[in-house]
Order: sequence, then C-alpha cells, then structure tokens
Amino acid sequence: MSASKTGQLQRLDRAHHLHPFTDFKSLGEEGSRIIERAEGAYIIDSEGNRILDGMAGLWCVNLGYGREELVAAATEQMHQLPYYNNFFKTTHPPAVQLAEKLVSLAPEHMNRVFFTGSGSEANDTVLRMVRRYWALKGKPEKQWVIGRENGYHGSTVAGMSLGGMAPMHEQGGPCVPGITHVRQPYWFGEGRPAGQDPNDFGIECAAALEAKIRELGEENVAAFIAEPVQGAGGAIIPPQSYWPAVKAVLDKYDILLVVDEVICGFGRLGEWFGSVHYDLTPDLMPIAKGLSSGYLPIGGVLVGDRVADTLIEEGGEFFHGFTYSGHPACAAVALRNLELMEAEGVVERVRDDLGPYLAQRWGELGDHPLVGEARSLGLVGALELVDPETGERFDKALGAGNLCRDHSFASGLVMRSVGDTMIISPPLVISHEEIDELVDKARAALDATQRQLA
Ligand code: PLP
Repeated sequence: MSASKTGQLQRLDRAHHLHPFTDFKSLGEEGSRIIERAEGAYIIDSEGNRILDGMAGLWCVNLGYGREELVAAATEQMHQLPYYNNFFKTTHPPAVQLAEKLVSLAPEHMNRVFFTGSGSEANDTVLRMVRRYWALKGKPEKQWVIGRENGYHGSTVAGMSLGGMAPMHEQGGPCVPGITHVRQPYWFGEGRPAGQDPNDFGIECAAALEAKIRELGEENVAAFIAEPVQGAGGAIIPPQSYWPAVKAVLDKYDILLVVDEVICGFGRLGEWFGSVHYDLTPDLMPIAKGLSSGYLPIGGVLVGDRVADTLIEEGGEFFHGFTYSGHPACAAVALRNLELMEAEGVVERVRDDLGPYLAQRWGELGDHPLVGEARSLGLVGALELVDPETGERFDKALGAGNLCRDHSFASGLVMRSVGDTMIISPPLVISHEEIDELVDKARAALDATQRQLA
C-alpha cells in the first residue's frame, strides 16, 4: 500500500473510528498502524513491515494466520447456510457437531455447551446460569460471586463486574451487585515479600478466599470465578501451591467453581484446558478466542453435569441467548479448527516441545539488568521490568513498559505491556527458529529501553 493510501486510512480512522481500549486522543499525531495481511506467526503492515505476532492477535490465533482449511470451512458453510439460529427448538449441523466435539475434549463431567458470540457474552451467561442454578436449588440467597483483583472476564457490564480491573470499575460502575473480589496470587506484583516462599504466598491467597467466604457467609456465596493463569492482568502464573489450596477451600463449602478458559483453553498451557493442567473440576468453563483461532467470533460455556442436569430437569425455559449463539459459519470454522489442532498434535507439541523450549529461551532473559523475573508456562510468558539500580519497580510515570512495547514493535515483535510487565502469547504453531527470533527481539527491545531510561 502506498504511503499516501496509508496516510489517508489513518486520517479516516482518526476521524471516524473509536477503538477498543484506546485513548482516542493519543491517536492524534502518529495514527494507527494498519495491519493489512498475515501469514503463519507474522502480521504485515501497510508499509510492508513483517512483524512477529508475539500475542497471537489477542491471545487467540492459536493455529496461526493463513490457514486455507479454515477459510474453506467458512466459505462452504456460508454457501450452505449462512445464518440460522438455535432458538425455539431449531438448530443446524455445525452447532451440533461443534457441541459434540467440545464435549469430547472437555473434562468427563462436562457434557453440555451453551454458545455465545464472545468471551464476554460467555461470562454474562455464566452469571445468569449460576444464579438460576441456585434459585432452582431453593437457595436464591446464594447470590455472591467472588472474582479476583486484576482478573479479566470481559468488557460487558457483567464481564467487567466479574473482572477485578479497578480502572474499568471506575469508568463503568456501578458494577453488577453481588460481586466481590479477593487477592490475586501475584507474588512478584506484591513485592516478592522478603523471605517468603512463593508457595507460602499461594496458600495465603487461598486463605484470603476462605476468609471472604466466611465473611459473606457460605450460605450466600454462589460461585468463585478465576482464570487458571491470569492473562490480561499480566500473565500471572500462580505458585504451585495455589490451585490445590483453592480447591481444598472450595471443596469445604458448597460453592460453584467457574474456570475462565477464554485464554488458557485450546492448548495455550499445553493441555486442551487450563483446568486439566491444574487438575481442576469446574462446574462452568467460559470459552472463546482459540476455539476458532480467532478466524470468526464465537464463544460459549461448557457446563458440568451438576448444573446442566438441574437447568434441564428443573429449569423450564432458560430466558437467555444471543442472535449469534452458535452461528453456523463460526461453528463450522471452530469445528475445523479443533479437528486440525487434533490432527496436527498442536496441544501435545506445546506441552512436550514448544513450551519447554520457550521456558528455556525466555528464561535466559532473566539475566537482563532490566528484568526482575522471567516466567512462562506453555506458550504464555512475562517479564517483570525493574530499575537495574535498585532492583525495584521503576517510577510509574516513566512508563517503562510502554517504552519497551514500542521498541519491540519497532524492531518487529508484538509484545504487550501491562504496566511494567511485558507479556507474550504467540501462536501455538510457532517454530523453534521463530521462538529464537522472538527472544532476540525482546532482548533488543529491553536494551533499547534501558538506553532510553539511563
Ligand atoms: N475472559 C478472559 C479470560 C479474557 O481474557 C477475555 C478477553 O481477553 C474475555 C473473557 C472476554 O472475551 P471477549 O473479548 O471475546 O469478549
């Protein structure tokens, strides 16, 4: 695309397009980078720059870009039946086949799925189902849902309320009543408490959940919702002790477990679901993103037998659903995506090969003076930036994370910043050579950031 065409698009973009999660005014001078094409693990902008997509779009392009099989699945389905709904006792083959495939991949006790158009809609559905379930059980007072600080469950009002992102609450409040949040298992973020073993810290965080349940009264608590690894909060991998301790707390009380698999599902942690990695038995699992590798928008909630049986046997009509719940083209693409992931052994490769390789190479960045911690699990990674003089966090006003993100983009790598935490989540089909390139470019971005801050 010519420079003048790029400039024209940027002007129109500024004039008419309100972007998600963007300071509109900040687009003022430079304008947006325009992404025109993509292939494999790379995006290509309107100036022809090839950029390694270290974030798989928004943690979603699991199979990478340019998969003709997914294009063909959409095309065939659009010819056959571009739209029909799943309301009022109708359905269509792709929705049924996708439901069956999902159930075959999910933990054994999960045999039903409710489709949505996105992860946020999936979490709205979760809230509706949780409250409906307890009402049907004759316990309508069980209203409280406990989430976690800095958790992310989407951008609708319910998603934003379930999530624990303070800036979202400040802009979007008041939140949905009956939702509260507990401490997140973020050892580094809480200042690596001197002398404390991360596993003791993990147990402390689980104890905070129990304290909250007692404060609210077990009889009033409906569910606990959490991501296996907190994604948007900064790729926060909990200490080993955390999930077993949380499980023990939940087992003690009659509270539903909602595991938000929107990021961790479909191979990101080296298993089909993060719940499998952490040996969890969720009652509900919201899913989206990697379900279709992001090629078309689709989400859903996998529902465990305990909740599904109650909704089905005792619930009558569930007054909830979306025009695009189980959209045929989206479902057809998702189905083909899962079939390809299975046939190509993508999940096993993340677990046995790519995840360990990334851990080794990414871990090497821990020796950089700007890095206080380098961590990864499967194909999610984070770097905690620190001031080399003090080993502590930089002054927030310096915006070290954003500087590093911009240097990274300029050097041909999408690496995102959450405050001063740099995060990656590349396509699950990335090669060893591309992981090497990713690590080299991340190091170059760290060097450039250090020079700028010196
Ligand atoms: N849940 C988690 C864990 C997410 O990371 C996200 C999006 O990033 C969502 C829910 C919301 O998904 P969507 O953006 O598709 O509404």
